[in-house]
Amino acid sequence: MPRIDNDIKLDFKDVLVRPKRSTIRSRADVDLTRSFIFRNSGLTYTGIPVMAANMDTVGTFEMAKAFAKHQMFTTIHKHYSPAAWKEFVDNNPETLEHVAVSAGIAEGDMQKLSDILELAPQIKFICLDVANGYSEHFVQFVRDVRKKFPKKTIMAGNVVTGEMVEELILSGADIIKVGIGPGSVCTTRKKTGVGYPQLSAVMECADAAHGLGGHIISDGGCTCPGDVAKAFGAGADYVMLGGMLAGHNESGGEMIEKNGKKIKLFYGMSSATAMKKHSGGVAEYRASEGKTVEIEYRGEVEATIQDILGGIRSTCTYVGASKLKELSRRTTFIRCTQQLNEVFTAFTTQH
Ligand code: 5GP
Repeated sequence: MPRIDNDIKLDFKDVLVRPKRSTIRSRADVDLTRSFIFRNSGLTYTGIPVMAANMDTVGTFEMAKAFAKHQMFTTIHKHYSPAAWKEFVDNNPETLEHVAVSAGIAEGDMQKLSDILELAPQIKFICLDVANGYSEHFVQFVRDVRKKFPKKTIMAGNVVTGEMVEELILSGADIIKVGIGPGSVCTTRKKTGVGYPQLSAVMECADAAHGLGGHIISDGGCTCPGDVAKAFGAGADYVMLGGMLAGHNESGGEMIEKNGKKIKLFYGMSSATAMKKHSGGVAEYRASEGKTVEIEYRGEVEATIQDILGGIRSTCTYVGASKLKELSRRTTFIRCTQQLNEVFTAFTTQH
């Protein structure tokens, strides 16, 4: 008989962060940098742990340059050629602390990963990203990559439950990507019925990872800076963003004009758009298709970065956390039935 887990599982929209007495004078006094030591690579990292997703239109070299100025991280998408990587690496040495090379388990991915890391041995991070982090095949792939690259920090996912976080960490991954179905252009939940509410997934997976000395990324589902703060509050070490970074100059893809408005396309990595672009190369990227949306052009990503970092700093001041590191310890979530007052939503164009 099928089982039902009756525990309530929550999404970002189901909670708010309770304010607490605080001695912090201004949000300028909040330090958002974090330092980590990784369990399996033994390497360290210092930076602001907000990440651009390894999607065509987000994880670009241009995004990496804009992000690295703030010590923020970019998982570069897997469709750049080794030659393009070579040029990037030679011309942007200051960004290399803050980028990862991505790979899936498609044929040729391991070879391409090796080629890129040979050209750019300074790169410390590998992001292994597949449709279904639960497959035994993927676990073996993580073991193989660990064996081949003992000194690189490996991110792996996606999963949403503690036992699989543990398995991947014990197989050699340092940082686990958490999230199945919450993404803005993801249709997994619709197509398959599979998923896990993201806030609860993050809380449970962070607990499992931290117990072993591992780390996690909350990947997908953030719609506004408040959601990013909630993900950190729930225990995420890094928060990965796709949709919130789409539509900017630094986002890949062409600009089109429609009814006098400038538009950029944003699409899931297993959407028809992505598959057409990479001609069959990414058909297995996600368990089900993603969708394509038109985003109103938003200019430089710098303003969006300021908005996100300003929001998180402010959350920290509301709960009395002088460092991002203290945020989860100082977070109490309140369950709510309404997060935002939407009365004027129809009249506004900017969030
Ligand atoms: P967002 O920040 O836009 O809510 O979520 C970004 C995340 O959505 C990505 O990091 C990735 O994990 C996930 N994603 C990207 N493309 C697809 C897709 O085509 N299908 C599915 N199921 N997930 C996707």
